[in-house]
Amino acid sequence: MNINFREAKQIITKSNIPGVDYVINPYTGCQHGCIYCYAEFMIRFTGHKGDKWGQFLDIKQFDTNRIKPQKYDDKTILLSSVTDPYIPLELKYENTQKILESLVGTTAEITVLTKSKFVVRDIDLFKKFENIEVGISISTLSENLWRVIERGASKPTERLDAIKKIHEAGLYTYIFISPFFPEITNYKKIIEKTQEYTDYYMFENLNFRPHNVPRILKIIEEHFPKSFSTYKKLRNDRSLWDIIEKDIELYCEEKKLSYSIEFHHGGFSKS
Ligand code: SF4
Repeated sequence: MNINFREAKQIITKSNIPGVDYVINPYTGCQHGCIYCYAEFMIRFTGHKGDKWGQFLDIKQFDTNRIKPQKYDDKTILLSSVTDPYIPLELKYENTQKILESLVGTTAEITVLTKSKFVVRDIDLFKKFENIEVGISISTLSENLWRVIERGASKPTERLDAIKKIHEAGLYTYIFISPFFPEITNYKKIIEKTQEYTDYYMFENLNFRPHNVPRILKIIEEHFPKSFSTYKKLRNDRSLWDIIEKDIELYCEEKKLSYSIEFHHGGFSKS
């Protein structure tokens, strides 16, 4: 892992994600290095041309005294959008923890999203916020698939254990079923396993980008050969996402779940 320290002008930045006013990305890069990660585009904008996603990390340096909690009252803040706030090196550098500590007192709606078991370290800190939700993202319960697509992140069962503990601590929890892999993501099984400690579910489809398409297709061909033709078809025939969306909708309605489906229609992006 290539580690650098970089001065950050702003550590809480305005966001252009719909429904999110500010984002906090305590690091540039992500130790998890998921093969489908859409945030890999960050390589181009952060002076990391030639570096491999998942193999570099910039530890942002910032002055916590400049964080004024009241500035964010009634706003929405996402932690994080292009890194994971609880990568293993957070235990050493504690950027996420320092930022959250500086924000105590805000009435902002804070959304924490991670693929890491280390999120439980901050349970007591989360409790200091009046408006916070903590979630994990997950695509699969299978360790075999986890090993191939996101082995830098915590194992699926570890993530579920973490969110269970967070819920038991009285915090509002959600599960982000993302990215959704057609014919592979068994979302019903994930829901059955997590329903008693999950307040709501969100769904997002697999986002194909030019940089990740060959990697994803290679993995599908090697590990899920029966689904290979489906994934190839997804390039031209996007109706499959509509079918999946309808299926999720029917299931969640029947189970009376709180949920939202954030499928970007198209699935393939030119950006
Ligand atoms: S945890 Fe999130 S930001 Fe990090 S590599 Fe995986 S998808 Fe990308």
